[in-house]
Amino acid sequence: MSRPIVATIDTSALRHNLAVARQAAPRSHVWSVVKANAYGHGIARVWQSLSETDGFALLNLEEAILLRESGWNKPILLLEGFFHADELPILDRYRLTTSVHSNWQIQALAKAKLSAPLDIYLKMNSGMNRLGFQPALVQQVWHKLKTLPNVGEITLMAHFAEAESNEGVTAPMARINQAAEGLNCPRSLANSAATLWHSHTHYDWVRPGIILYGASPSGDWQDVASSGLRPAMTLNGEIIGVQSLRRGDGVGYGARYRASDEQRIGIVACGYADGYPRHAPTGTPVWVDGVRTQIVGAVSMDMITVDLTPCQQAGIGTQVELWGNNIKIDEVAKAAGTVGYELMCALAPRVPVNVV
Ligand SMILES: *Cc1c(COP(=O)(O)O)cnc(C)c1O
Repeated sequence: MSRPIVATIDTSALRHNLAVARQAAPRSHVWSVVKANAYGHGIARVWQSLSETDGFALLNLEEAILLRESGWNKPILLLEGFFHADELPILDRYRLTTSVHSNWQIQALAKAKLSAPLDIYLKMNSGMNRLGFQPALVQQVWHKLKTLPNVGEITLMAHFAEAESNEGVTAPMARINQAAEGLNCPRSLANSAATLWHSHTHYDWVRPGIILYGASPSGDWQDVASSGLRPAMTLNGEIIGVQSLRRGDGVGYGARYRASDEQRIGIVACGYADGYPRHAPTGTPVWVDGVRTQIVGAVSMDMITVDLTPCQQAGIGTQVELWGNNIKIDEVAKAAGTVGYELMCALAPRVPVNVV
């Protein structure tokens, strides 16, 4: 038998979370964001559970081709566009919608020999200062794109840096409205946070990612606790050893934890090489034998150590949930100083995945 660790992907949770996103933006089309191998869930495993979506948004041509070859015929959006001009024949062949954020891409589109026009997402920099044209250039770029026979429908796209805060979309929305004045084109602006919390940003297409997987865009589960989202990924391990400590005994590398009294601890078959965050400190919540307890001591490559004080019946073979329905991935992420996004994406290839 194999090492007792498994990630479970709940397809009904994915379906449900997509419905939650749709309810939040009932008049918009939905791009389901499946970049980074569907946030670590496995694009090949999950796309069919999200097939009620209007389109899939991602970054890699490989992922786009996988979707097309698996039978997805509806829109696919390349969020960062093409990276080199020689990719355009592939965009043409697989009918991919592409963002355009730089002048060289416009020149490449002008020169390319395509079988039919491609739909374009004109990416504007609304204040995040990563990709996109400055607001003052949007009209000029839009009119330029309009003259190109290779360009089909043009949608104005922007991305928010602070949509989880109340005022975080105010300044970007003002820039977008000003830049787009008089342009009669569809818009796509909203990520998960804006989909949930800023309905005036919704327009034609929303682009939720993290909420489809049942975690919070703010990093704090409390912020989405009432939204009905369900975690799509559960990471389970098992206790493979038990130690009885005396007062003063150290645990794990660096003896970063010492028992203040007699204490039973469980050794769980899950470590940072499985994707559990190495920075998770003593006190990070973990679910053992139906009870919330905490990890103690340093996370090692293949093991963590957990406090068995509140679960006296637990022993070798007892089930452990690292994250899932009982311990939200956001809680573990927060304890480790990161966000649920990173933990999902970091699930290691060596962890077997079960799809239910
Ligand atoms: C990743 C991404 C999204 C989705 O973000 P979430 O916070 O996961 O909802 C939307 N739009 C763009 C451009 C992205 O890169």
